[in-house]
Amino acid sequence: MDELRYQIDLLKAMNQKISGREKMFRLACDTSNNAFFYYDFESNELVTFGNWDKFFPFSLNEVKDIPMILDTLDDEYILPVRELLFLEKSGSTQCSQESCLKDGRTWYEFETRVNYGENGRPVDKIICIRNITKFKTQNEELRYMAYYDSLTGLYNRNYFVKLLTDFVRQAEKEKDIVSVLFINLDDFRKINDSMGMVIGDEVVQQYGQFLGSFSGRNVIVCRMNSDVYCMAVYDPRGNRSVEVIYQEIQDRISQGFVLSNGTKVHVTVSVGVAEYPEASASVLELINCAEIVMFKAKAAGKAQLQYFNAPMLQDFLQTVAIENKLKQAVFNKNFILYFQPQYFTDSKKLRGMEALIRWKDENNKMISPTVFIPIAEKNGAIIPIGNWVIEESIRCYLEWKRKYDQDFIISINISSLQCRKDDFVPHILDLIRQYEINASEIEIEITESILIEDFTEVKDKLVTLRENGVRISLDDFGTGFSSVSYLNELPIDTLKIDKSFVDKVLADESTKIITESIVNMVNKLGYESIAEGVETEDQYVYMKNIGCDVVQGYLLGKPIPVEEVDQVFIKML
Ligand code: C2E
Ligand code: CA
Ligand code: CA
Repeated sequence: MDELRYQIDLLKAMNQKISGREKMFRLACDTSNNAFFYYDFESNELVTFGNWDKFFPFSLNEVKDIPMILDTLDDEYILPVRELLFLEKSGSTQCSQESCLKDGRTWYEFETRVNYGENGRPVDKIICIRNITKFKTQNEELRYMAYYDSLTGLYNRNYFVKLLTDFVRQAEKEKDIVSVLFINLDDFRKINDSMGMVIGDEVVQQYGQFLGSFSGRNVIVCRMNSDVYCMAVYDPRGNRSVEVIYQEIQDRISQGFVLSNGTKVHVTVSVGVAEYPEASASVLELINCAEIVMFKAKAAGKAQLQYFNAPMLQDFLQTVAIENKLKQAVFNKNFILYFQPQYFTDSKKLRGMEALIRWKDENNKMISPTVFIPIAEKNGAIIPIGNWVIEESIRCYLEWKRKYDQDFIISINISSLQCRKDDFVPHILDLIRQYEINASEIEIEITESILIEDFTEVKDKLVTLRENGVRISLDDFGTGFSSVSYLNELPIDTLKIDKSFVDKVLADESTKIITESIVNMVNKLGYESIAEGVETEDQYVYMKNIGCDVVQGYLLGKPIPVEEVDQVFIKML
């Protein structure tokens, strides 16, 4: 009896322990936010527990109920989840699968574990179901941020590069072409400055959304940054040829974009096009080439499309090389001045000297100012270079004055950027005062292009200089916009007739007529006239006979280094 009692007590104690464990186990399942179902193959027992009710509006009582789960899923996931729910059929022990419900928003993750007996038969299995919707949406957001531009909804640069890489790989296999269009809004800064950044953003957004409408199987569009977009077209032809796309862009732009404040903007675009395989096989180089041509399109007057070609790249690389060397040259002051004499036609006496800059590069090679001055004007290096020219010219002038005590004018070429600097006029006037120079022997040469941008501002500066006695000469007359109407408004003393007239004046009747009228007009306005680039005696005689006051050119004197200038003065003594 005692033995029996003992056995019963032991069993009770064990049962208590088991139900305590089960309580703990259930609590854990209930608080885990997951749903479970357990199936015992031997007893055919199926139990659901955890948060089952929160996941499914039905319970599972037997194996034939299991497919009810599949009915809640989006079609795409039915098959993989079915395999997972009956994992024992494949003999696997563990598997998991993310699935979306029919509502298209809710995401569950299913995870199955199957235990097998020693005979290889399944003993039992447990399936855990988790709600991963929050995690999925966060992931979606991250994915969006990684691939898209939030302002326009277009792809971002990184993803564009990836997709373009796919295009190029495919084109390599299929021997196709891929066009890359680098698209930049014209004068966007003006919009940002005048209307504010919020409106600027709206313009970028509207253009971006419009360009996005070209997206399709063979076209990808991205926003690179600020107001720059890129489009890649696989196998561009027919209604997706670059020309057709560009025409559609033009048509849309001409209608204007209406902003939320009611203003209508007509911002044009400059487009550079580079094509695989012609421009490059490298995706980044393709984009770079397209960008280079876009800058060409800008420089050629904006609102246009230009195609990349090999000489363009050469040109660009040369500019970059010169730009790099130029920085060093400015730092080391690797420049020298040449001087070209100017003579009065009537007396053949020396009128003055024009200072012309030369750059000796590190290999002692002379680089022409026609090559590096435009680059220096673009990158701002013209400011220190120009200041050096002014100071060096004045230093030479003072030296010759001291040595030869002769009247002559020193002419200094001035770039538009220099002229626009606030300290331009004070700097020149300071030097004149400091060295007690007769200001009427200092002449600055400007071209018409200086006047195009800020006519009034430049004019005021020239007036100040002139009031202080400095001479002003208008260079290259006849090559720019040469509006005769403003000539009498300008504070100038001298007008230099461009070499292109002198070149043709003897052979071409209409050039003759124009040159004669220019000289005539200049004389009547009371300005002095200088003929540039006089190379032959005949040209000299002709210019003299039509009343031109001064000549400058290879005939009477090429530009010479400072050491040779003494000879010019000595001859005049
Ligand atoms: P520019 O001011 O019109 O200078 C005249 C150019 O014509 C000079 O070229 C001169 O060497 C050249 N020339 C003079 N007579 C003849 C001739 O009879 N035949 C031929 N074939 N050429 C002649 P350079 O020195 O190469 O200068 C070219 C341009 O570079 C200048 O044109 C000027 O625009 C610019 N430049 C030169 N020095 C400076 C400078 O110090 N500052 C700035 N801003 N520009 C400069
Ligand atoms: Ca000049
Ligand atoms: Ca000139």
